[in-house]
Amino acid sequence: MSVYKPLPIQIERGEGVWLWDTEGNRYLEAYSGIGVTSLGHAHPAVTQAIQNQAAKVLHTSNLFQNPNQKALADLLARFSGLAKAFFCNSGCEAVETALKLIRLYGHQKGFEFPKVIVMEGAFHGRTMATLSAGGSKKTQEGFEPLVPGFIRVPFNDIQSVKEAAKTHSDIAAILVEPIQGEGGIKIPHDNYLSELRAICDQNGWILALDEVQSGLGRTGTLFSYQAAGILPDIVTLAKSLGNGVPIGACIATESVADLFKPGNHGSTFGGNPLATAAAVATLTEIEKHKLWENAKIQGQALLQGLQAKLKNHPHVKDIRGKGLMIGIELDRPCREILLKALKKGLIFNVTNESVIRLLPAIIYQAEHVQQVIDTLPSLIDEFTKQ
Ligand code: PLP
Repeated sequence: MSVYKPLPIQIERGEGVWLWDTEGNRYLEAYSGIGVTSLGHAHPAVTQAIQNQAAKVLHTSNLFQNPNQKALADLLARFSGLAKAFFCNSGCEAVETALKLIRLYGHQKGFEFPKVIVMEGAFHGRTMATLSAGGSKKTQEGFEPLVPGFIRVPFNDIQSVKEAAKTHSDIAAILVEPIQGEGGIKIPHDNYLSELRAICDQNGWILALDEVQSGLGRTGTLFSYQAAGILPDIVTLAKSLGNGVPIGACIATESVADLFKPGNHGSTFGGNPLATAAAVATLTEIEKHKLWENAKIQGQALLQGLQAKLKNHPHVKDIRGKGLMIGIELDRPCREILLKALKKGLIFNVTNESVIRLLPAIIYQAEHVQQVIDTLPSLIDEFTKQ
């Protein structure tokens, strides 16, 4: 079904931060397949884990216990400070899980129709509930009626959350991305998450953070909320969790997680032996090399390098980023720049029409950063001169 507009090359193989197409052309990846292959392509430890597990058993269903699931849950609990995990196959499924926990929590509080505060410009996925929670009209258009129960407020605006608290008596939670990814790399002020945490505490609401894109080292800490020094009640993960093997997770505090009883929720493939083996290998590598520190260092160098070259550019409205999550906002729609970039051997993407989005692998080294700094500004120049 034609839901995508793919670029006119076919990728044959990848290694580290490089991809090769079927014609033998090599590309520097500055996008990691939408923030997924954080350890780069064909990472030996992940490949080995997949091969080993494939030779043992691929699928058993959740009728049985699975040692990889336990190992992954233990790693996530240790890294996040949360207690329990539910495994699924994608980001939207992880957010659906969070929304179901929130509904149970609201009903437990005696609300007939529990509500969730969500943000303008948010993106949480393409299922009916997640697109309803999202803040993009384009994603929702044509799919009405939307799932009810969401109160939308501007992102990065504490006052509007406080006002919502005054007008609604049946709010159960806030669902928010620590940094909006699809919305155009929007970074809130430094105290935003801690202020949201405080409001949730005052009102007895759940704070659910969607770290599907920002999590697992990308923004300079393992989880973005760790930079704010807070602990949320629910965190959703996917994308880079399996370094390319589909897996999602919803992790939560014990009291929130225990709202689910056997039979309340499930997923045939969720937490299968193969995906959890890949995720254990991925997290082990991230921890072994403290790759969030590398993301911070390389991210700063990339942001500063791009700012130095582009800050006075007449068609660049803003350059912003945290760690290796970087956006360059142009004054015009710019998807066509991707074709020019391919010709120069560089892969990235455009979000929100006019924001060039970089999500490089968190194994990036100085030479890769330099190559992006050497290539991208001249591409923007060429593109905006047309
Ligand atoms: N949440 C966030 C913050 C995302 O960026 C995305 C995907 O881009 C999703 C959820 C949905 O993830 P998936 O495409 O794996 O369903």
